[in-house]
Amino acid sequence: MGCESNEELNSFVEEARKYAEKGKVAEYIPALGRANPCDLAIAIYYPNGTCYSAGDVEKKFTLQSISKVIALALVLIDRGRDYVFERVGMEPTGDPFNSIIKLETMAVAKPLNPMINAGALVVTHMIKGNSIGERFERLASFIRTLSGDPSVSYCEEVAQSEYETAHLNRALCYFLKAHQIIKEDIEPLMELYTKQCAIEMNCLDLARIGLVFAMDGVDPINGKQIIPLDVARICKTFMVTCGMYNASGEFAIKIGIPAKSGVSGGIMGAVPCKFGIGVFGPALNEIGNSIAGIKLLELLSEKYQLSIF
Ligand code: GLN
Repeated sequence: MGCESNEELNSFVEEARKYAEKGKVAEYIPALGRANPCDLAIAIYYPNGTCYSAGDVEKKFTLQSISKVIALALVLIDRGRDYVFERVGMEPTGDPFNSIIKLETMAVAKPLNPMINAGALVVTHMIKGNSIGERFERLASFIRTLSGDPSVSYCEEVAQSEYETAHLNRALCYFLKAHQIIKEDIEPLMELYTKQCAIEMNCLDLARIGLVFAMDGVDPINGKQIIPLDVARICKTFMVTCGMYNASGEFAIKIGIPAKSGVSGGIMGAVPCKFGIGVFGPALNEIGNSIAGIKLLELLSEKYQLSIF
């Protein structure tokens, strides 16, 4: 069924950690460049509340792109799928996460999916609320509910660092504003988006969120349906088709778990009906996925036959 002890997970972590030296921490957001590339951690959360973990489990990291799937769940709940998919598509791109190219070359300027930056910016634009503060709080409180951790907050240093350097994301926003897909002022939207990306937690919290997705939106610890079934399914499908950027196909073949990664080195995994996974390893491969984290998931998936396919 799956891993049964911290010791077992530990041996996988130590095996996978060797791969960290082949990767590099993200530097385009200056504050992320200060991460320790050798860090590696994993947590697995089961529906009965049992949690196994190994490695640098206490280390906090920012969600970055992992927040995209959670923000998507929130706006699907708030606005319904017709409204959302009028403004963002459902297809993988095959391009890097921050690419602008398809926006200009496709007949309709709407972003291809909500897991690339252009699509995620449109999703953040759709978060309801009367002010940036209120919209951020709605997302943060949704994340606190999903993780079961009321202390979840954001890292001001990372948010500020990205806000100061996010010129490519600004360019995406202005392009989308020119095509009336984004309708608000860009600077406040950038503030909201960079705070969203800077929400931080450790891999135990992340595994618990993965568990809710794995259980079709139900938090099995308290029995509450936090995300409606159809929304959880849409999110998991995007995790499979676009969750690991333009390496999603290879990840589906080699590992076969709905997953979402971020440039801080986090990966959230949802093994349907079995467990949630949280991984943190800041050394990234060229695509922007945690290099040791992927190796770790590969070892786990092979050993426990976790592929959903
Ligand atoms: N905040 C990051 C950005 O917009 C998130 C990207 C990522 O994790 N791939 O560039």
